[in-house]
Amino acid sequence: MTLLVDDVTLTYPDGDGRLTALDRVRLDVPAGSMTAVAGPSGSGKSSLLAVAATLVTPDSGRVVVAGRDTTGLSAAEKSALRRDRIGIVFQHPNLLPSLTAAEQLQVMTHLSGRRPSRQLRRRALDLLAAVGLADKADRRPHQLSGGQRQRVNIARALMNEPSVLLVDEPTSALDHERGAAVLDLLATLTRERSTATVLVTHDRSHLAAVDRTVTMTDGRLSEGSRPADPAAAPAPA
Ligand code: ADP
Ligand code: MG
Repeated sequence: MTLLVDDVTLTYPDGDGRLTALDRVRLDVPAGSMTAVAGPSGSGKSSLLAVAATLVTPDSGRVVVAGRDTTGLSAAEKSALRRDRIGIVFQHPNLLPSLTAAEQLQVMTHLSGRRPSRQLRRRALDLLAAVGLADKADRRPHQLSGGQRQRVNIARALMNEPSVLLVDEPTSALDHERGAAVLDLLATLTRERSTATVLVTHDRSHLAAVDRTVTMTDGRLSEGSRPADPAAAPAPA
């Protein structure tokens, strides 16, 4: 498993007590496959991504990324692991207004200082082509549509060739057709680049493109696109 979230519980402080955002959650995602996490607002979907991204440390349980157990890693080790192994696509593309599409991608990897800039530029252009923006490389965010900005956001998350791709509600600001196109794109990228992809969505209409769907309900995960329905259980005798 390229991504394994194993028996994770996460609580937040809540008045005098604690709110359980994730309740003994287990999720494994093989390389080259995409799992959708459906479920209502407030059910814990973003918390799951934050834990998988090693941005938040769970109360218990462990997260294994590309074979590496992240439990007990220092902040610096986690940050290096994120840089090298994890691509994160947040709900709203935080693009820098003054940079072109290609520069948004280059600046990311530039910070880690590992490649000569000509090679970076080449890679940025290749990725923009892969997300259908070959002819938009020199546009700034205000010259792109919402859907195009989200594609730049996705391409940027792939700059460091991550093993794990975490995507939070990428279609929430898009109309149905553009949303479906972004999901198809993510499915294609997942296969081509062999990422273990987790896609959070509260919209069940796009789920045809994914390999597996799980549903979050009050911090608990269940298999399938519908929450476990207590009414469906056999009536007690
Ligand atoms: P979703 O992404 O499914 O909408 P979240 O993971 O954002 O759900 O939130 C799950 C629960 O945890 C909600 O009740 C939310 O209010 C709470 N929560 C999320 N983040 C925090 C935080 N940083 N501090 C306290 N409570 C939080
Ligand atoms: Mg959320």
